[in-house]
Amino acid sequence: MTSEPLLTPLSDEPVLGVSMAGVSVLRLDLTGGLAPGNKAFKLQGSLARANRLGVKRLVSFGGVWSNHLHALAAVGAQAGLETIGLVRGEECELNTAMLADARRCGMQLVPVSRGEYRQRNTPEYIDALQQRFAPCLVIPEGGASADGVEGCTAIAGLLQGAGTALAANTRYVVAVGTGTTLAGLAASLPGDSEVVGISALKGALDLEVRVQQALQVHGCATESCKWQILHDFHCGGFARVSPELRSFIRAFESVHAIPLEPVYTGKALFAIHQLLQRGCWCSDRPVVMIHTGGLQGRRGYPWLEHF
Ligand SMILES: *Cc1c(COP(=O)(O)O)cnc(C)c1O
Repeated sequence: MTSEPLLTPLSDEPVLGVSMAGVSVLRLDLTGGLAPGNKAFKLQGSLARANRLGVKRLVSFGGVWSNHLHALAAVGAQAGLETIGLVRGEECELNTAMLADARRCGMQLVPVSRGEYRQRNTPEYIDALQQRFAPCLVIPEGGASADGVEGCTAIAGLLQGAGTALAANTRYVVAVGTGTTLAGLAASLPGDSEVVGISALKGALDLEVRVQQALQVHGCATESCKWQILHDFHCGGFARVSPELRSFIRAFESVHAIPLEPVYTGKALFAIHQLLQRGCWCSDRPVVMIHTGGLQGRRGYPWLEHF
């Protein structure tokens, strides 16, 4: 376990002219050993399910920089389970540092054409995979499942255990891909708080419905606290980087010594910075940013130095 506190308040030293004092960062990037960040939380339920079913092989999907496959390879190896990653792309494209890590953990990588990859959520395709790799448990892309939501409710427990008393009206900010982590937080944080999701995708306007469904499937007809998703901080689209985002990440890291990556966490903190700068958010209201990890993906961006 690390000696750094999990909940880190930012100093008032300004980032590009804006003080971010009042913002604390929950450092999930420091948890989870070889699988830091939110993905290990999401996978706990799948591991438990595999255990109940007596299944020793986990199958899932992702791109060549997928944080989800990276975490699955690590937690699978730790649990003594076989892992198979269906990777979007041709054989010759499977050469990223992420995939090298996954191979090292023993994950078997299977290249999947972009056309086939598009079928990843159809029941027929999932049935076919279940037969092909039987006996196995197929985990949805990004760990987006009721098990995933349940796993993320443990993040609220971590916050409660992080020592500092959390103010009643705190805003919790989290980057959103599938909305599973946000759903887990909304299901478990105190009723007087608010969860604000920052979509990492452009125009993913079905996310709200997906979060509502995830909450229902998880068994919460109503969420524990308020939540919303902001759609204007994707900075060009999924895994895209605008010049402003790039400047922000560089400036933030040089002031606060907390590493970010541009796909998720950089966008979430950039959104907070923008909302404070524009006066949309008052600096008196406490903000907790959930640092969801993903730092292995920095290696895909040569302009980011090794931290
Ligand atoms: C996957 C991921 C997210 C998004 O999580 P969802 O539960 O899919 O919304 C956020 N941050 C990081 C670093 C991730 O890897």
